[in-house]
Amino acid sequence: MSTAQDDEELRLRKLHQYDVLDTPKEDAFERITRLVTAVLGVPIAAVTLVDGGRQWFKSQQGLNVSETPRDQSFCAHAMLGSGPMVVRDATLDQRFSSNPLVVGDPDIRFYVGIPLRASDGTPLGALCGIDTKPRDIGERELEILGDLADLTMEQLELRLLATRDSLTGAMRRGHFITSATRDMAMARRMGVPLSCLMIDADKFKHINDDWGHAVGDDVLIHLVSAISGELRSSDSLGRMGGEEFCAFLPNTNLHGAMQVAERVRGAIEAMRIETPGGCVQVTASIGAAELTGLDATPEEMIKRADIALYQAKHTGRNRVAA
Ligand code: GH3
Ligand code: MG
Ligand code: MG
Repeated sequence: MSTAQDDEELRLRKLHQYDVLDTPKEDAFERITRLVTAVLGVPIAAVTLVDGGRQWFKSQQGLNVSETPRDQSFCAHAMLGSGPMVVRDATLDQRFSSNPLVVGDPDIRFYVGIPLRASDGTPLGALCGIDTKPRDIGERELEILGDLADLTMEQLELRLLATRDSLTGAMRRGHFITSATRDMAMARRMGVPLSCLMIDADKFKHINDDWGHAVGDDVLIHLVSAISGELRSSDSLGRMGGEEFCAFLPNTNLHGAMQVAERVRGAIEAMRIETPGGCVQVTASIGAAELTGLDATPEEMIKRADIALYQAKHTGRNRVAA
């Protein structure tokens, strides 16, 4: 049975697939929020993404913070609606009248938010305009905001296309390393562990030879979905080469990483991929490594995981090594 918690986990997984949280400013989104302030004549506008415990601004005008707690977020309400959410005067709205952003800085009165949704309908956040005085909004303005929200989603989709491998949806190598570098800096700053897994399909050449390249492609798609099914929404997965993938696991030490690896290995082994020619099975070998104080780049940790992977291959495949 699906629970609200499951739905939220799926929503966060989808949001994190866009790899946009905590990334630098980008012109396309800056233009959109500038247009919102100009069209509405308001001092504040934002492209807001609603993460687990916070709302984070991909772009903002007129605010001096990059995020606020989720329980203060107007956009967390707006993203759940089927159309625009308009609050004429927040002091008169019992959902928001005691909100710190209304009672104090930036003194929100008027709010309009258009939901930002993935193509499958998953709510990600909102495009919003905010005034410090109560006001109304016309149909025409709402229409323009709707177009700007569509443009915002198109930009997010374009970023995604540029960063994801088109076959499997895993991150492309270059982008994965950028994301891994961010994970590494975060682990250092927070003083928490970070681990990585190198995952390589066993005897994949035989799969192509025996079943054909198209089935091989299909197996790779299933492989990534089996791996992703065992990862958390904060984990990341990159395609490092043909049938070779790397996962970064924030907040996870080597012991935890070995447990994840074992689950991933089991999930891959349990896959039964139906094809016109019959049922295909595949296994994978996995190498694990944990971040040390000596690692200057993610590649150094990846290299240790790769050496462990080689060992897993060498000692019989379909196994995990560290
Ligand atoms: P090992 O267990 O030692 O990893 O053996 P292997 O056959 O998996 O290793 P090897 O690296 O020799 O071969 C990898 C194969 O993966 C060769 C290549 O044709 C295939 N491959 C790489 N990328 C793709 C792809 O996108 N689609 C398909 N179908 N096959 C691919
Ligand atoms: Mg292989
Ligand atoms: Mg390989």
